[in-house]
Formats: sequence, structure tokens, C-alpha cells
Amino acid sequence: MSGLARDVLRAWGRILSGYTPALSIEITRECPLRCPGCYAFGADHLGGDVTLREVSDLRGRALVEGILQLVDRYQPIHVSLVGGEPLVRYRELNDLLPALSARQVHVQLVTSAVRPIPPEWASIPGLQICVSIDGLQPEHDARRAPATYPRILKHIAGHRITVHCTVTRQQATRDGYLEEFVAFWSAQPAVARIWISLYTPQIGEISDERLRPADRQRVIADLRALARRYPTLDMGDALIAGYAEPPDSPAACTFARTTTCVSADLTRPITPCQFGGAPDCRNCGCIASAGLAAVSRHRIADVIPVGRLFEASLRVGGVVRRLRGAPPPAPAPGGAAGASRPEGRPEGVEAPSR
Ligand code: SF4
Ligand code: SF4
Repeated sequence: MSGLARDVLRAWGRILSGYTPALSIEITRECPLRCPGCYAFGADHLGGDVTLREVSDLRGRALVEGILQLVDRYQPIHVSLVGGEPLVRYRELNDLLPALSARQVHVQLVTSAVRPIPPEWASIPGLQICVSIDGLQPEHDARRAPATYPRILKHIAGHRITVHCTVTRQQATRDGYLEEFVAFWSAQPAVARIWISLYTPQIGEISDERLRPADRQRVIADLRALARRYPTLDMGDALIAGYAEPPDSPAACTFARTTTCVSADLTRPITPCQFGGAPDCRNCGCIASAGLAAVSRHRIADVIPVGRLFEASLRVGGVVRRLRGAPPPAPAPGGAAGASRPEGRPEGVEAPSR
């Protein structure tokens, strides 16, 4: 059975049982970075009445036990640990990551690599360390200090990380920029793969980060060409096509509908997806959303689109959940670091064209 088929079957089983297969947790409200365009610390990220910095977060055993209880409650097959900056809780993660691995949950840890990544994490089964690197050194270091290129290169040594870049307009305007980025990081021995998202604005947002339609088209064309030349750029045609046709709304977003997102108090839901607030789905550039859209378009045995199967299963799962009485579904119709959080594209769930 292919990795895609196996993941689809596992996710299908969770949906039919009334659960969402993915869980995203902001494990801390703290972050030493101040990235422009960071949605996690945006005023409306948690609905407007409170910001991530004002949420009461947990630490020590309370954090570890709280997350394990959430996982036992939601029974996901994929967990994203985001922040803030998860590495500020590295001591807790030293206990939590092996415990999640023992539960056979695939974990994606999204970090800026602002501090050393403990070497023992390199051998934890099912752990993917995803480092947010937004552009070449001059732009990245200006946006994401103190998580600068020299620090990242030092802190990822001995690991096999995923580089995740969120393309903003500043990076989209120079010819050859993306290729320089992909070539540089492909040459690093600690890099297993590269993922590239596009900046996702809030509805009505006017910012320097927001891509114009022409920028978006150019980035999509560049990605198609680069993915053929750089195997480390782990993005198939079907996934990249998702950037050309994003969902109209959270209700049409498979990723949002199959991911439960929880903030740093481990209770507050983030809706309608990991971006919170009122994200502009028509300009979505989230790799997880595009990846799951590609999976949804894939046809089982060349006949039934996976998306139709998920749609029917979500309805069945809702009935099962109501009969069972708990736990609640994804807090929306619909799954962080800021401009740079890739979120839960399940390991092994590749675009069908790959
Ligand atoms: S992830 Fe889904 S719900 Fe969120 S902005 Fe993108 S398309 Fe909309
Ligand atoms: S984008 Fe991530 S690393 Fe940057 S400020 Fe926001 S949470 Fe911190």
C-alpha cells in the first residue's frame, strides 16, 4: 500500500469515528522573535477578545500532561506543535516528544531554530522538525533576528530538518530569488526537504507581505520549474496547483475541516484554521491546505475522489460524534509560526502526482 493510501485510510477511519485526524497546538505564548506579518500575535488571531500574548499558558509537567490529555481526547494521527516558539519549552519537549512517539502519533515541530535543537531529538521516530526560514539571508535576518542564518546553520547540525519558507511580496519581486534560496538550502547536509508556502493575508489586509496576483502567478511558475530541478523541493505539481486555485472559504478547505487547532491555554480554539481571525481563503498560500486539496482531488482506484469520500465521512463522523456526546469537532467548519508556520501537511501525504 502506498504512503498516500495508508494515510488516507487512517485519516478516513478517524473521521468516520467522529474525530479530526490532525491536531495543532500552540504550546507557548512566548517567542523571542518579532516577525513582520506574524499572524499568531495578530490582534484578531484568537477572535479579538484576547491575544496570544495574553493567554495563560502552561509549563512543566502541567504542559506535558495537558498536551497528552488533549491527544488522548482527540486521538489525532498527526500533531503540529507550534507557538510562539516551541523551543522555549525544550525541557518539556524532552519528555513530551518521546511520549507522543510512543503513542505512534506523527509530530511536526515548527520552530525558528533560535536556540539549539537537542541532538537526541534526531532519533525520535515520527518526529519532523520544520524550521521556518523566510528568504535569503539579508531578508530573513532582517525579519527573523535573533534566529539568523548563522544560528540556524549551527542549531540544525546533526538533524534532518524540513525547511519551510513563506514567500512574501518582498521575495517575489526579484527574478531568480527563489532558485537562490532553494539551491542554498538544498546544499545543506541537515536539510531533508524544502517546503514553500505563500503568504496568506487576512481579509482586507493591506501589507508589504501580501502578494499581488502577478506575484502569485510568477511564484507558482517558478515553483513548478524548480521542483523539476531540485529533488529537495518536495512539492508535486498537484500541490503547487492548489496555490492557483485555493478554496473559496474554510468550509471548502479540507485542511481546515480535518484539523483541530488549540491555543496556548490548551482550551481556546483557533478558528477557522491555524491562521485564526478572518483569513483570506481566496489568497491562501498554506502548504497544508494546498497539499490536502491535492489529496482530495486524488481518485481512489481512479474512480472515487478522496475529497468526496472525506465529505461523506465528515457527515457520518458528525453523527457518530453527537451519538457519543464528545469530544467536539474541529472548532470551525474547518487547523502556526506566524507568517511561517506550515502546519500539519501529514508526513507521507504527498501530492498525488509525485
Ligand atoms: S488554510 Fe483553509 S481555511 Fe485557512 S485560509 Fe487557507 S483555505 Fe482558508
Ligand atoms: S512568526 Fe513565529 S517565530 Fe515569528 S514572531 Fe510569530 S510565532 Fe514567533
